[in-house]
Amino acid sequence: MTHPVQQDGSSCGVIVVLMARGIMNAFPAVPVLQFGTSRKEMGNERKIMALQILKASVFDEAENCAMCSLKKTAGSVHRFINWIQCDTCERWYHEECLGMAKEDLEQARANKWNCILCS
Ligand SMILES: [Zn+2]
Ligand SMILES: [Zn+2]
Repeated sequence: MTHPVQQDGSSCGVIVVLMARGIMNAFPAVPVLQFGTSRKEMGNERKIMALQILKASVFDEAENCAMCSLKKTAGSVHRFINWIQCDTCERWYHEECLGMAKEDLEQARANKWNCILCS
């Protein structure tokens, strides 16, 4: 089978996915696989895949902890109680999931707070 060759030490996963897709699309024929494997092209493919996964996800930023993805309204036996919202992206987090020092957490509650994705 003709296929592109990996050029770096970390894009094997992206290449495997692209090859699998090519093989599935051509099945039962044997495809000639053609796609770029430069650093830039691999980065672009990674981004496309990440967005596809996020798009297919049932994750709801207004209802789920952005760290553990548990739902805000989940049952009463939940061991996490306190939630904090990022003032920039408005994602919600369990305070316990953030693993912040007590003083930092108090500071975050009292002031504007940016989550790990926004700070
Ligand atoms: Zn959580
Ligand atoms: Zn944020």
